[in-house]
Amino acid sequence: MIKTHWTLEDIRDGLRQLDMGSSVMPPAHIIEMIMYVERLFYNKHMDDIRARRDGLKNMWTDDAGFLSFWFPDEKYKYMDLRDVIFPGCYHCLQTSVNHIRHSMRCSQNCEFCYYHSVDGRIIGKGTYGLSSTDMTFTLDEMLLLLSRQVHHHSAIGWLQKEPLEELDTIEPIMRYIKKRGIHQYMYTNGILATYPVVDKLAEWGLNELRFNLQSSNFSDDVLDNMKYAAQKIQWVGIESPMYSKSFKNFVKHKERILDSGIHQINLPELQICSLSMLDQFEKTEGPVYKHRRGYISPISSRHYTYDLIELAEREKWDVIINDCSNDTKFYRGAVPDMHLGVVSYDSAFELPFKNVAYLANQILEEGVEYEFF
Ligand code: SF4
Repeated sequence: MIKTHWTLEDIRDGLRQLDMGSSVMPPAHIIEMIMYVERLFYNKHMDDIRARRDGLKNMWTDDAGFLSFWFPDEKYKYMDLRDVIFPGCYHCLQTSVNHIRHSMRCSQNCEFCYYHSVDGRIIGKGTYGLSSTDMTFTLDEMLLLLSRQVHHHSAIGWLQKEPLEELDTIEPIMRYIKKRGIHQYMYTNGILATYPVVDKLAEWGLNELRFNLQSSNFSDDVLDNMKYAAQKIQWVGIESPMYSKSFKNFVKHKERILDSGIHQINLPELQICSLSMLDQFEKTEGPVYKHRRGYISPISSRHYTYDLIELAEREKWDVIINDCSNDTKFYRGAVPDMHLGVVSYDSAFELPFKNVAYLANQILEEGVEYEFF
C-alpha cells in the first residue's frame, strides 16, 4: 500500500527496510518515503535560509520568495528590477533568452565545472550551437536563424566552456546581434579577457561580461582584466559558484573587487552533477540536498552566499548581490516556453539512497544544528 503521509515513526521503519548499499530500486512505498524525506529536508533548509534572509535590511524578494537580491541601498527595493539589475539577468528571469555555444575549449579544469559531466555540447570548430536545439550551424545558417528569430529573444548569452578560446568566430555574430539591437552577455573565466580582447568585445557590441573568478583562484591578472573591462563594457560583474574556497577568496579579495567598479555579483549554489562530484564535495562541503526534484547542491553553499551578503550589509558594500540560488532557477523555469529550452530543471542523477538515509537521520535527531566551515 502506498501511503500519502509519513510520520517520523514511518520513516524510522522505512529506513530499517532500506538496504543502504543496494542499487536495486526499492519498493514503491519506500520511494514515496524517500521523496517525503527529501521534501522535509528541503523545507528545513529553506526555513533556515529564509530566516537569514529576513534579517537583512537591504534584501529584496519577489512575492513568492524565490528571487532574492541584496542592494547597496534600500531605495532599490522600491524600483523596477529592470532598471536595477544586469539586463542579462532581467531578461533571463522575466522575458526570453537564448544561448550561443561555439567553443569546446578551456585551459582550466575547475573542480566545479558542469561541462565535465552534463551540460556540454559537441560543437565543431567554426560552427555554432544554440541552447534551444541540439543542431549545430554554419555562420550563414546562424545569421539566418538570428534574423528569423530576432523578435523572440530579448537577450542572447555566450556560454559553454571558455568562449574567448574561439575569438575569431565571435566577431561576425556579435556584430550582427549588436546591429539588431539585442542585449548580449558573456560568461568568461577572465584569463583571456586581456585589455586588447576586451577592447574588441566592446567594439563588436558586447553589453555585459561576467567573470568566474574562482576558475583562476581570483588571480591578480584576472582581477586586473575585470577592472579594465568595467571601464569599457557597460555591465560587468562576477558569477562564481559559492563554496568554501570561493567564499574565502571573496573575503580575501574584497577590496580589489569593490574597487573594480563592477555592477553586480551573482552567487549560484554549487551544482553537483555526477557521483564523482558528490564524493569529492561531500568531503569538503558537507551534506547535499536536492532542490525539490531539481538541482543537487551542498547545504553549506547557500549559507556561504548569506555569509557574504551579511558581510556586505555590515560593511555597506557598493555592489548588487544576486542570491542566484536553486530557488532562482526554479523561478526562472516556471515559464519554460518563454525560454526556448534553456531552463531544464532536472538534476543529472538521483541522490544515492545512503544520502537520503543521512538526511532522514538529521531530521529524526530533534534539534539538530548544522555547522558550516
Ligand atoms: S573555466 Fe569554466 S568552462 Fe573552464 S573548466 Fe572552469 S568552469 Fe569549466
